Amino acid sequence: MTDEARTVLVVGGAGYIGAHVCKALAARGIVPVVFDNFSSGHRHAVRWGPLVEGDVRDAAALDAAFEAHRPGAVMHFAACIEVGEGEREPLKFWDNNVAGVVSLLAAMKRAGCERLVFSSTCATYGEPQTLPLTEAEPQTPVNVYGRTKLAVERMLADVSAAEGLRYAALRYFNAAGASPDGEIGEEHDPETHLIPNALKAAAGLGGPMKLFGDDYDTPDGTCVRDYIHVMDLAAGHLAALDRLWTGSESFACNLGSGRGFSVREILKTVETVTGRPVPCETHPRRPGDAATLLADLTLARGLLDFAPARSDPETVIGDAWRFHRRAWGLADD
Ligand code: UDP
Repeated sequence: MTDEARTVLVVGGAGYIGAHVCKALAARGIVPVVFDNFSSGHRHAVRWGPLVEGDVRDAAALDAAFEAHRPGAVMHFAACIEVGEGEREPLKFWDNNVAGVVSLLAAMKRAGCERLVFSSTCATYGEPQTLPLTEAEPQTPVNVYGRTKLAVERMLADVSAAEGLRYAALRYFNAAGASPDGEIGEEHDPETHLIPNALKAAAGLGGPMKLFGDDYDTPDGTCVRDYIHVMDLAAGHLAALDRLWTGSESFACNLGSGRGFSVREILKTVETVTGRPVPCETHPRRPGDAATLLADLTLARGLLDFAPARSDPETVIGDAWRFHRRAWGLADD
């Protein structure tokens, strides 16, 4: 590995997935330089390298970061992710998620940095026509969030066709879990994701969990999702980076566990892992939720040797519970 390749600019590295990737990079001897505006990330999650505080739409701040640290590659995590917010504030999403990448790619071009790992999403597929979802599935997103991420995939394809850019667009399924040592984990505010909300209800914090819809066309009526442990996701990012560093062409690839679990199955596992009941009340469907999302991992296995090792629900939920128990100041059971 060259010296240049030993430094990566991690845009949004103070957020949930970005911070876990920083930890994994550092474990490999790569310096993660976090670039973050702390609109949703956390200062205490920046632990493995230098911090540059700035906004991805600020060209001068980006130029200064490239000049000071000379990264060999960029990983881009900074984005608005809450689907409901996207419907209410589309301009905010297009500005941050799309204009932000225009700004980043321009800065990369000025700095001569040509490798990018980009956080895309299974939300770019929309309502699945075929399950499990392969990368050949038509991309017809059904919400603003998915459309902004798809717009970036198209932008990356255009730019890499014309210029030296080489990118990996990683289409995440449901990231979950926490660092097994309990050091970092999921801390969204407001928290909208199933597993932390179920753990919160099990911990007796904030009342019963809201289960959004039990009348889907699935075996038990609740939505089926593919939960991927955030450490497995991080390993996928490092493999993608390795591929780009060793001269690969650009690619887009699913990252999931390849297994689907219903909301009720997840709640049952939360009860088993925590040894506590999950008080829960059924609410109407949440707009925009597909009945089932499930990744086909054939391409990820072939391109990245991707083999998620921690993504069984017991391990995902056990790691998340360890982190949250500490974060919420709960005594050990
Ligand atoms: N969900 C739920 N209650 C919650 C959060 C999520 O019933 O408090 C359901 C949601 O409707 C979906 C599944 O859990 O069917 C996963 O949702 P999450 O927000 O974790 O991820 P998404 O699949 O939307 O990215």
